[in-house]
Amino acid sequence: MSQRRPTRMITLGDDRVGRVRIGGDAPVAVQTMTSGKTHEIDTCVAEIVRMADAGADVVRVAVPERKDTEALAEIMKQTPVPIVADVHFHYKRALEAIEAGVHKIRLNPGNINDRDQVNAVIDACKERGIPIRVGVNEGSIIERKDKAQRKEELGKFFADHRSGHLLAIMIAKLEEYLDIFDARDFHDVCISAKSMDASVVIDAYREISSRFDYPLHLGVTHAGTAETGRIRSVVALGSLLESGIGNTIRISYASDPVHEVEDGLELLYCLGLRERKGIELIACPTCGRIQVDLFTLVEEVRKTLADQIQLPIKVAVMGCVVNGPGEAEGADVAVFAGDRKGIIYVQGERVANVPEDEIQQRLLEECLAFEKRVRDGQTQLGQKVVEIIPPDPIGDLGSGVEKIQAGEVEQITIEESSKG
Ligand code: SF4
Repeated sequence: MSQRRPTRMITLGDDRVGRVRIGGDAPVAVQTMTSGKTHEIDTCVAEIVRMADAGADVVRVAVPERKDTEALAEIMKQTPVPIVADVHFHYKRALEAIEAGVHKIRLNPGNINDRDQVNAVIDACKERGIPIRVGVNEGSIIERKDKAQRKEELGKFFADHRSGHLLAIMIAKLEEYLDIFDARDFHDVCISAKSMDASVVIDAYREISSRFDYPLHLGVTHAGTAETGRIRSVVALGSLLESGIGNTIRISYASDPVHEVEDGLELLYCLGLRERKGIELIACPTCGRIQVDLFTLVEEVRKTLADQIQLPIKVAVMGCVVNGPGEAEGADVAVFAGDRKGIIYVQGERVANVPEDEIQQRLLEECLAFEKRVRDGQTQLGQKVVEIIPPDPIGDLGSGVEKIQAGEVEQITIEESSKG
């Protein structure tokens, strides 16, 4: 993992919801956006609460109409996390949202015609200490009036890149927008430059990161369904985060936004950028050896334990004896299935052999009991007390380690420089 690129820092929130720092040395924050109508207050608040419960640090709401900004005053009283108002076209919506007490504005100065109107929003934010995210997302910055001229003017800028003109426009637009903020001496800014193409996202943010020191909000926009959106987002955001770029993320796709939050957190956990909260679930993909309904079991275990376990307990749900013991050995609590039954282990010690329909409940009980023992200081996470002896299908062939020790297999040396 590369060192985090240094950036300025913005802070959003208040005494009631707490404050989220973005940029500087702050942990990478996870954001998402409500999918319902903001003016339907109860539904909107319920969605925000669900997202916050899933781990969202910040939630964005769209305010396309006056009735949406009117609803904000009540929403701001009930939200458990900082709220960002997403404004396009109507600068008055931004002013109304600021008046209602939102914690941040998301603005694309390019789709507000009048510079004075943009200045009015900047000044209102400055007066109240509210940061602004400036978005130069692909879909909203393309010069529609004279694309050919724009391409000719800027295309050579990134001539070697297949989307060079697009990157050039993004950067040129960003520079224009930031000049407006500079002119108002406003630097409480966060930048986003999203595209639906993961490779453009990677290149755009790398370029922006080398040019500006504002914190960056990462995302792939219009990424499709969960199936495509997840992969496009993780490829782009994972690559950028791994190289030290990015201060807040939103994984987005056409599905329940709670899944976006879960995916975002898992990405940060995988990269070691956030301390895991709740269980770390390991499960086998299943194969022809399976003798229980593992898909259903894993999903039920995931939901049940996610609700009830707070510590980062490593839980393995494995389909059979082939890889079950090996994974169970590394997990705090594990089950590996046999013929319509499950054998449950805690810290490597076999504690139960239960029929399939009792696996989920027993696993939960064992996890709760284990979590209590950890909290009481009687044991620790990741501490195996018993050696699991698996069946030995390898037998005389050995595990391979002895071949390395005997010099029959050449060891591979990994250069320090290639580890990044
Ligand atoms: S643990 Fe067993 S059932 Fe699961 S994938 Fe491996 S071999 Fe197949």
